Amino acid sequence: MSVYQAQLRPPSPLTSALAGKIVIPEHARFDEARRAWNLAIDQRPAAVVFPESPQDVAAAVLLAREFDQRIAAQGTGHNAGPLGPLEDTILLKTERMRGIEIDPVNRVARVEAGVLWLEVVEAAARHGLAALAGSSPNVGVVGYTLGGGMSFLARKYGLTANNVRSIEMVSADGRLVRTDRDTEPDLFWALRGGGGSFGIVTAIELELFPIAQAYAGILWYPIDRGPEVLHTWRDLTHSDLPDELTTVGRFLNLPPIPEIPEQIRGQSFAIVEAYHLGDPAQADELLAPLRALGPINDTIGPVPMPALSHMHMDPEQPAPVAGDGLLLDRLPAEALDAFVEVAGAGAQFPLVSVELRHLGGDLRRPRPEHGALSSIDAQYAMFEAGIVPAPELEAPVRAQVQAVKDAIAPWSARHMYLNFAETPREPTTFWTEQAYHRLRRIKAAVDPENIIRANHPIPPAH
Ligand SMILES: Cc1cc2nc3c(=O)[nH]c(=O)nc-3n(C[C@H](O)[C@H](O)[C@H](O)COP(=O)(O)OP(=O)(O)OC[C@H]3O[C@@H](n4cnc5c(N)ncnc54)[C@H](O)[C@@H]3O)c2cc1C
Repeated sequence: MSVYQAQLRPPSPLTSALAGKIVIPEHARFDEARRAWNLAIDQRPAAVVFPESPQDVAAAVLLAREFDQRIAAQGTGHNAGPLGPLEDTILLKTERMRGIEIDPVNRVARVEAGVLWLEVVEAAARHGLAALAGSSPNVGVVGYTLGGGMSFLARKYGLTANNVRSIEMVSADGRLVRTDRDTEPDLFWALRGGGGSFGIVTAIELELFPIAQAYAGILWYPIDRGPEVLHTWRDLTHSDLPDELTTVGRFLNLPPIPEIPEQIRGQSFAIVEAYHLGDPAQADELLAPLRALGPINDTIGPVPMPALSHMHMDPEQPAPVAGDGLLLDRLPAEALDAFVEVAGAGAQFPLVSVELRHLGGDLRRPRPEHGALSSIDAQYAMFEAGIVPAPELEAPVRAQVQAVKDAIAPWSARHMYLNFAETPREPTTFWTEQAYHRLRRIKAAVDPENIIRANHPIPPAH
């Protein structure tokens, strides 16, 4: 039994305030409470707290301080991998904080810390509005946005973090703080792309866009046509594309499990995903060379915005996953050849998904009013994931994840994107040097004792 648990026994005012919302290792529910969305991660915190209000969050922060613990916020646990050992940490799971308010006139969504993307997307769509959601329906809005937030609309509208109106949080000393451009501007800047090191976010206000439908879908090919398909896709991304079109080139090796539709279950494909805003005729013209290759299926058509949250086929239930990412500066033909060789039909250990997302557009345009991650200075993002159905398969899956990164490393960008880093990284790789030093100074000002623990932490400046 840890000192912490022994001390928790006699109820203190703080533990009473959190009655029914704290789970400690001795509880029968502890294993369920400590579970992350990524089931391959075995997190063992000192205790788990399930706050239902900002006041509960403040009580949890003060509790952590009282018992000499750190505190780590978790929305879903999609990026729990890099958090590291948590034995000296209270894990604060925000899943009970699920309020959503849509203001259709000002086109703003205010969402509480535990809200998942599909919930906002569907609420906004009821007003003919769209949110800058990621590919997965069940990634947390807050974790995603603090890390930057790269949606399929990002070439047009930029990072989600740079489309935030305000952020409410609890500080490392337990105060409720509201930040926006005029109030606590340094903190507001740091929270937009600097990750979860600066406070426990309780709610966030996001811009919405008057978009009711997209022209989107997937071109499917057998995996052994990968080289010609992905080279044709690469040519498309090298042309002068409008920001309205985002495409993804990808290999899929779908496991033979009932969650996967029967017609594709257990099969492997090379695919190109297309997400277009605007006149479908423009997209059809741009996609014509890919269609000329004769896909075995072509699902591209007009779809309501919530359909985009399922199109990428990210797992919709918790899953044991090992994955990682890399940003690419450029993609010459030889880089694509290296990618196809390691990740395509001849892969030594096929992963469920290895993708290259085309970036650029507004993602690459820094602006003074932006947050800590002002832009993504890279042209492609690689993101890969393998399922780890049994512990003995973790090593080969991780070896393949590394092999893909190694194969394309010669073309990697100088910086990495925090949200796609599923392994610990040198923090200096996520931001420009100037932004990183500013983040460290802000961390030192707001959390000098480093109570708040993030998966990709920023150490306070000395
Ligand atoms: C299948 C899949 C698809 C994805 N698709 C995309 C995509 O399209 N675009 C993209 O940009 N990213 C994408 N991601 C990456 C995703 O954005 C990150 O994993 C993100 O960290 C998830 O946030 P979360 O809250 O769900 O995860 P968590 O693991 O719960 O949180 C990650 C970190 O965010 C911080 N955090 C979370 N909540 C709070 C809070 N209330 N206060 C303070 N800090 C907090 C903490 O530091 C925490 O460690 C994807 C990931 C997966 C696994």
